[in-house]
Amino acid sequence: TSGLMKGKRGLIMGVANNRSIAWGIARAIHAQGGELAFTYQGDALKKRVEPLAQELGAVMAGHCDVSDESTIDAVFDNLEKLWGKIDFVVHAIGFSDKDELTGRYVDTSAANFAMTMNISVYSFTAVAKRAEKLMTDGGSMLTMTYYGAEKVMPNYNVMGVAKAALEASVKYLAVDLGPKNIRVNAISAGPIKTLAASGIGDFRYILKWNEYNAPLRRTVTIEEVGDVGLYMLSDLSRSVTGEIHHADSGYHVVGMKAVDAPDI
Ligand code: NAD
Repeated sequence: TSGLMKGKRGLIMGVANNRSIAWGIARAIHAQGGELAFTYQGDALKKRVEPLAQELGAVMAGHCDVSDESTIDAVFDNLEKLWGKIDFVVHAIGFSDKDELTGRYVDTSAANFAMTMNISVYSFTAVAKRAEKLMTDGGSMLTMTYYGAEKVMPNYNVMGVAKAALEASVKYLAVDLGPKNIRVNAISAGPIKTLAASGIGDFRYILKWNEYNAPLRRTVTIEEVGDVGLYMLSDLSRSVTGEIHHADSGYHVVGMKAVDAPDI
C-alpha cells in the first residue's frame, strides 16, 4: 500500500530524538504521503529535531512547552497561516519528576502531582481545543498512554494516575468532537527504551518482563507503534473513536507470568 495519507497534513508533538515514539509515527505517516509539522521543546531539542524534520520534509512549527499555553497558541497560529486547516495531530508528551517515578506512589508531592497532570493530561485537551478550529473537514487526534493507567506497575506511580486521567479525557473529547467528524484515540504502547522511559525506576526489568511474558514474546518498536499510529490517523480507522488501542505484543491480556518465562 502507499498514499494512505496523501493530501493530509498534521502536527507531530513530542519528537525529542530518533528514539521517540512520535518519530516512529512521523515516519509511518510520511511513508504514506502525509505532510508534517513538528514542534520542539526549547533550543536544546530544536538542534536534534531540525535534522529529523528535514529528513521527512517536515515544517518546524515552533517551540512548544505545553506548561506555557501561549506557546501552544503560537504553534497553532503558525499552522493556520501555513496550511489554513489540518487533518491530524499527534500528542506524544509526558513528564514527571523522576524522583517520584520510583518508590511509593503515596509519597507523591502536591506540586509534582499538579505538574504531571498539567503536562501529561491537560495539555492534550489544550491541544485538542486549538486543533478543533483547524479541523474543518474532520480529523484525527492521537495521544500516547501506557498500561500503568489500568493496573499498578512498579515505579510508574503518579504517571499511572495521569495516564488514567488521559484515557478518560480521550473518551470525553471523542464525545465532544465526534459531531464534527473529529476522532480522538490513544495508543497504549508497550515499554520502549526512550528518553522519557529512562526516568522510570528499574525500566530494564520492565522491558525484560514484557519480553518474557507478552503473548508475542517480544517488546514493541517505534516502527510498530508508528504503523498503529498510521491506522489511527488515516481513514482506515474512520469508524474508530474514543478507543484505547493496545500496541504491546498482547501484554495487557496476560494474567500471570508465562510458564516458560526465565527468571530475571
Ligand atoms: P520521548 O522522551 O522521546 O518523548 C517525550 C516528549 O515529551 C519529548 O519530546 C519532550 O520534549 C516532550 N515533553 C515533555 N515535557 C514537555 C513540555 N512541558 N512541553 C512540551 N513537550 C514536552 O519519550 P517517548 O517514550 O517517546 O514518550 C512519548 C509519549 O509516549 C509519552 O506520553 C509517554 O508517556 C508515552 N509512552 C511511552 C512508553 C515507553 O515505554 N517509552 C510507553 C507508553 C507510552
